[in-house]
Amino acid sequence: MTALEKATLESRNKDASARFERYRGRNLSLDMTRGKPSPEQLDLADDLLTLVQGGDTKGEDGTDLRNYGGLAGIPEARRLFAEYLDTTPDRVIVAGNASLAVMWDTLANAMMYGMPDGDGPWKDQSPKIICPVPGYDRHFAICERLGIDMINVPMTEDGPDLEAVKALVADDASVKAIWCVPKYSNPSGEVYSDATVDALASIPTAAKDFRLLWDNAYSVHHLGEGPAPLKDIITACEKAGNPNRPLVFGSTSKITHAGAGVALIAASPVNVEDHLKKISFATIGPDKINQLRHVRFFKNMDGILAHMQKHADIVAPKFKAVDDALEARLGGTGLATWTKPKGGYFVSVDVVDGCAKEVIKRCGDAGVKITPAGATYPYGKDPHDRNIRIAPTLPSVDEIQTAMEVLTAAIEAVCTEKLLKG
Ligand code: PLP
Repeated sequence: MTALEKATLESRNKDASARFERYRGRNLSLDMTRGKPSPEQLDLADDLLTLVQGGDTKGEDGTDLRNYGGLAGIPEARRLFAEYLDTTPDRVIVAGNASLAVMWDTLANAMMYGMPDGDGPWKDQSPKIICPVPGYDRHFAICERLGIDMINVPMTEDGPDLEAVKALVADDASVKAIWCVPKYSNPSGEVYSDATVDALASIPTAAKDFRLLWDNAYSVHHLGEGPAPLKDIITACEKAGNPNRPLVFGSTSKITHAGAGVALIAASPVNVEDHLKKISFATIGPDKINQLRHVRFFKNMDGILAHMQKHADIVAPKFKAVDDALEARLGGTGLATWTKPKGGYFVSVDVVDGCAKEVIKRCGDAGVKITPAGATYPYGKDPHDRNIRIAPTLPSVDEIQTAMEVLTAAIEAVCTEKLLKG
């Protein structure tokens, strides 16, 4: 390091540390940890609460939806969400209130009973799942809890690193699946390219029951430009001769009311039949009244898209506040790089290696909660200790601006300190 470089780092460190100390004295209490919708977003769907009244609870085929049954969901909801998921109603199950529960059921059942085209329970086959990183902590938590080994592969701007995926699946039949958040990935915002979708559909795998765990949680969650196009994985897999490979998940958690929405799974007829059989031991049917509410609320796909434009109007200024702060404080410094997503719920920041934990700790000391370092990696272990996930949807723009002042000051202080130590 030249004397000039050293002097520049020292001066940055002094300024940033002073800024940080000023905020630390303010007894802040701000939370940027979880990707939750804000109250204003939830308000947009409050008509759901009155759309189904007593005496008005019959489905389109005359079924009394207050009673048991309808394991695959009501026909009008399967039709609506087939359009949403770009497939046909017979391939869609409309389930309970959370896609995470559907993913858990899918993998727990795979562990205990296997897949319809496989060699029995996964638990007897030392199963491994490929995890593009950084990724969604709750996907990783499911695997860890079920004793499924996780293998990291890096994300690229087009999706997971395909060469790494190919090498892992080619000869090892215990590599059973890959997690994918194909649109506005959590946390890094990528949208998988057509070439990536086709490759994932067609890569030869040693496991005959290999699955794409296709969590399209953010299908319509754009920030103003309209939903990005994403090639339909179910058709791509059918064309590639692997119809049973994709399991598509989704929900309205971040469209209507999180925790009181509807969850979705779409897959081949073989997988649909298998899933229904497996869940029939756990439930006699989903909350069909809630499904009816959702159909009445949206009416059709245009209704969903118009609704999501209102979300974008609320959320986009918050993402802009995050980006503005990062640009203003860290642009051109070489201390951090960050994503500029066009949708989804997160901004992913990479700081100087070895600094993320300390940055997040210092933010906590100043009353700003940031998702724990490492959460975006399997087993909570970021091998480079550099990734920080920011969730801007829940706080107000004012709160975000304050939290970002604290975060950027902490990044600048910690990273310059590290570089000065060498
Ligand atoms: N999938 C992804 C990628 C998510 O980011 C989230 C929530 O943050 C979920 C699933 C949770 O969805 P649900 O509320 O339907 O369980």
